[in-house]
Amino acid sequence: MTTQKQHGQVKEITSLANPIIKDMKSLSLKKNRDREGVFMAEGLKLIIDALDLGWTIRTLLFSKAGLGNPLIEKTAARTKASGGLIIEANQKVMESVTRRDNPQMVVGVFEQRWRDMSTFNAKGEDVYVALDRIRDPGNLGTIIRTADAVGAKGLILVGDTTDPYSLETVRATMGSIFALPLFKMSADEFLKWRTGFHGQIIGTHLKGSVDYRTIDYKKGPIILFMGNEQQGLPDNLADSCDQLARIPQAGRADSLNLAVATGVMLYEIRRHNLTLDPREARS
Ligand code: SAM
Repeated sequence: MTTQKQHGQVKEITSLANPIIKDMKSLSLKKNRDREGVFMAEGLKLIIDALDLGWTIRTLLFSKAGLGNPLIEKTAARTKASGGLIIEANQKVMESVTRRDNPQMVVGVFEQRWRDMSTFNAKGEDVYVALDRIRDPGNLGTIIRTADAVGAKGLILVGDTTDPYSLETVRATMGSIFALPLFKMSADEFLKWRTGFHGQIIGTHLKGSVDYRTIDYKKGPIILFMGNEQQGLPDNLADSCDQLARIPQAGRADSLNLAVATGVMLYEIRRHNLTLDPREARS
């Protein structure tokens, strides 16, 4: 049985034991993603968007079923032009790499991108989201997607957080992982950096004394600071905020889900900038 043959620049792989496939599967572990500085993203549209945004693709894996699809061929040509590897695989390999029964027809391995805080340049009414020790990949993906949807400018991951480049988080972002710059730092670094930030830092807290609907969000730039799922914002980070906002609750729930609370806050903060007519949207 042929396990690997090469025609033109496309490798055909049908064996799960192929080292390239093993390497791709190993990206399910953070230590391997970090060592290689890469991550995996699934779906043709999302991969095309990523290339349009200038992300670097290392490997493009597509299913045999996609052969002859002009968009896949164009994406393969772009991958080749940037020095990436193109692999045609069977269903079994696609399922194994994506760990899914119904995998997407195309998977890309991209280089990770982290921004240095020295490039952070918030101005005007810019909004950023800071997340304290976020744990849940689904929450992080949902927050990245929501932050992108409202036109936030980036995300700051504070402390030890779940990896934004895990397959689960990337899936939950629905492509927004490619749209928002990511910064990360420890809580101590944030506290130090914070002294030089001249916008508003709005923390959210179950003990917050300010109703989130009463804050003047036009006085930007704004960093919305959300607390850890289990513990909320610790005192030192809460004390570093200019205001601590609370979303009122009426029922028996102790708190809102972190991603939901972030969505409620972001839509209130960006309310005056958002319109159904995209031509009127203000950044
Ligand atoms: N046990 C945690 C606590 O006591 O803070 C609950 C944390 S809650 C699940 C996770 C985060 O969501 C909070 O730190 C806060 O940022 C935000 N959050 C949830 N409900 C909120 C509310 N009603 N008002 C303001 N923030 C809220």
